[in-house]
Amino acid sequence: MVKLAEHKSRTEHNAIETARLPDKAYIPLNQHIGKICNKVEVNPGDTVLRGQRLAGSDGNVFAPVHASISGKVAGIQNWFHPLMGKSRAIVIENDGNDTPVPMSLRPQAEINALTPDQIRAIIFEAGIVGMGGASFPTHIKLNPPKPVDTLIINGCECEPYLTGDYRLMVERTKEIILGMKLVAKCLGVKNIYIAVEDNKPEAIKAFEILSGAVPADKQSGADTQYSVRTLKSLYPQGGEKQLIKNVLGKEIPRGRLPFDTGVVVQNVATFFAVYEAVYKMKPLYERVVTVTGSCLSNPQNLLVRIGTPIKQLVEFCGPLKNPPAKIIFGGPMMGIAKSSDLVPVIKSTTGIVLFTKEETGIKEEEFCIRCGACVKECPAGLMPCLINTASEKGFWAHAKANGCLDCIECGICSYVCPANRRIVQSIRRAKMEAMKL
Ligand code: SF4
Ligand code: SF4
Repeated sequence: MVKLAEHKSRTEHNAIETARLPDKAYIPLNQHIGKICNKVEVNPGDTVLRGQRLAGSDGNVFAPVHASISGKVAGIQNWFHPLMGKSRAIVIENDGNDTPVPMSLRPQAEINALTPDQIRAIIFEAGIVGMGGASFPTHIKLNPPKPVDTLIINGCECEPYLTGDYRLMVERTKEIILGMKLVAKCLGVKNIYIAVEDNKPEAIKAFEILSGAVPADKQSGADTQYSVRTLKSLYPQGGEKQLIKNVLGKEIPRGRLPFDTGVVVQNVATFFAVYEAVYKMKPLYERVVTVTGSCLSNPQNLLVRIGTPIKQLVEFCGPLKNPPAKIIFGGPMMGIAKSSDLVPVIKSTTGIVLFTKEETGIKEEEFCIRCGACVKECPAGLMPCLINTASEKGFWAHAKANGCLDCIECGICSYVCPANRRIVQSIRRAKMEAMKL
């Protein structure tokens, strides 16, 4: 793991603000790992309400999508997508009323009586996916094929520019803990670790006070135990396998998943979404996004409706001080550069970072000098230089044999490479191709 220069001070003390509603929301039908929502439940011209379900799928692995504003369905068309270039999207024209579907507080007695299956059903209907960037449907993750005994709440947010999770942990601690208890009930786990990096002292304090956490050395093992774990702020501390290793001392072998060692890891924003779905009957149609970068005069942590084009968020955080040369969806380490500002926010969008020309620091790619730096630093134990070469030559089977599917796309290999090799981009390509083999 590496220590990165932090750029969180622009937004880490800014409380979450609500972004202006979009004039048009573009709701992609594919915002999750799994099958696209091919069963569209509305037609052009229909009136829809905020929170109304718009589409599901005939597949097994998916999360339904919902309207994020009220208005009229203007069309169903190909539109920009932050991860896929373009994808089918439902376009909603804002009617300015923001009329919701009926949502109300669920009575506490009813919440207490919910079974794990009922909690998973609510999470599914709310369309919740992993909101730290992974976007795997949460109801499936909470129904692992093997018994698990440990839940880790991932509050690391190790990307150097992002602060949305931090603000959520400070401002919505109680709600995250309530979501955490529901998830623990779903999984039937007794060991719960809240993992936060040491650069977020306010969040650590809030969790220690409100969760009733018991220090690890004082746990009796008799009942559900909460424990706050403070971790060094290193990158990529928030990667699932790194987190499990640093919290529990367990290694997840290549090709295995956390549940193989009895562990489930979820991001803090996902717990908050679970809380809202169960307690407030609210589907996932908005999320906190950090909009930042030195180009902006007013960088912020914004509560944003899904489907809002980034152009509108940039205007909201403006005026621009410098023209952006590069827009990154997500953080600079794991995010993806986008050329259009019409790309909409989706459920897994953690941040939007605008870089000036000077900050992009794009350098010419040179030949690999076999220095081994990428191999030494890869947290997944891979040989990135080999996968990079295989990918460039289109040797997908070779890339797969060298473990490209275990790459967590952390970007460290590119970051440390003295030859400026675009390693992570080529590994992303290899992963897509290797999955087809
Ligand atoms: S190969 Fe993947 S996991 Fe390893 S450093 Fe590069 S991006 Fe990170
Ligand atoms: S860090 Fe760059 S130059 Fe060094 S071995 Fe890896 S790819 Fe080659």
